[in-house]
Amino acid sequence: MRLELILNKKRQKLSVKEGTTARDLVIRKKLSPRKTTKEKRKTIKCLCGKAALITVLGRGYCKSCFNKRIQKKFFQTLKKQKMVSSGDHIAIAFSGGKDSVVLLDLFLKFRKRTGLNLTFSTITVNEGIKSYREPQIPKLKKYLNNLKRKNLIEDYKLVDIKSLGFSIDDIKKILVDRKGEPGLCSFCGTFRRYLVSKTAREIKATKVAFGHNLDDYVQTQLMNIFDNNMERFLSLEPKLTSPYFVHKISRLIDITEKEIAAYALFNNLHPFFEDCPYLKGSKRHFFRRLLNKIEDSYIGSKVKAKYFLDSVMEKIPTKERKKLFKRVVLCKVCGEPTTKKICNTCEMLENLNKIKRLKAKQKTKKQNKKLNKEYFNVLLFIYLIAGLSSIG
Ligand SMILES: [Zn+2]
Ligand SMILES: [Zn+2]
Repeated sequence: MRLELILNKKRQKLSVKEGTTARDLVIRKKLSPRKTTKEKRKTIKCLCGKAALITVLGRGYCKSCFNKRIQKKFFQTLKKQKMVSSGDHIAIAFSGGKDSVVLLDLFLKFRKRTGLNLTFSTITVNEGIKSYREPQIPKLKKYLNNLKRKNLIEDYKLVDIKSLGFSIDDIKKILVDRKGEPGLCSFCGTFRRYLVSKTAREIKATKVAFGHNLDDYVQTQLMNIFDNNMERFLSLEPKLTSPYFVHKISRLIDITEKEIAAYALFNNLHPFFEDCPYLKGSKRHFFRRLLNKIEDSYIGSKVKAKYFLDSVMEKIPTKERKKLFKRVVLCKVCGEPTTKKICNTCEMLENLNKIKRLKAKQKTKKQNKKLNKEYFNVLLFIYLIAGLSSIG
């Protein structure tokens, strides 16, 4: 009742923006946002008695209790689900973003804590985005070289998407004048996964770890629902094993993006990259903003959605999910494992080549037209000269 009143009163005074919820309005009316955080910081304390630096689902944490919380989450699932064992060589998909930097840090701490005999290597894929990835590569190399020298990692690999024939900048140029959303993220995501899995097998890794967080996971599953893509929905977490694939593990999926950002900040872990410049305007960007909006209004929604997705997966018999993996064959073009005759990467590359050929044809047609026109002008000139000289 009170909410309704405030909302109505506000509606009369302010023009309420589309998507503004009652909760947004109440918060704005009660206190200015800056005041709220300051006041909260003063009052909220960690369970240990120290001042809280972050609140998670309404509970305050100091730096050390927060670190313990994140590490406990990460270590427990690895142990409980026996995801890694002594002797494993783990390839970490290391994009250099905050997720991968935190993932590597947590794995190194896990090895130290458990004393397990684990080897780590990192795989970085360069998408070939001139303004974004390229300037940071030397810094990234220096950082990884340093880790290698200290024997914290075995080795690191840098792989170019261009090795498949196209960089993401090339693809953007090819798709730029096509109608609708160019879908750069789906090309980039597919090619990156392909190259990481392939490289992991080449370096004889026994596991490959991705830094997908809880937000990424909920976004992806939501997109799968709206795409009616049951196969992709079922093939996500928990990952199943197949003799063709290096076993994938994504153990950040119980940790939210906000928690990962805070963990990086508290532990001086500096990411090399922010968001990709092509993310804006993509479908993923839309779902990311949507989820953040829901979370702003209904705190805890992301975590609840993850619990819901977990129970859905639990209810689907593993047999059903394993059926997907029984269909795994080797791609007829590149020989990589896939559930179709030709893998997604090869299919996408073929489509890009088709568009490229078509564009080249159109270009030559235009050139021919231009040449014809020039040829006609030259002919006209010759006739004119001939005519003039005959008059003369
Ligand atoms: Zn504490
Ligand atoms: Zn293929």
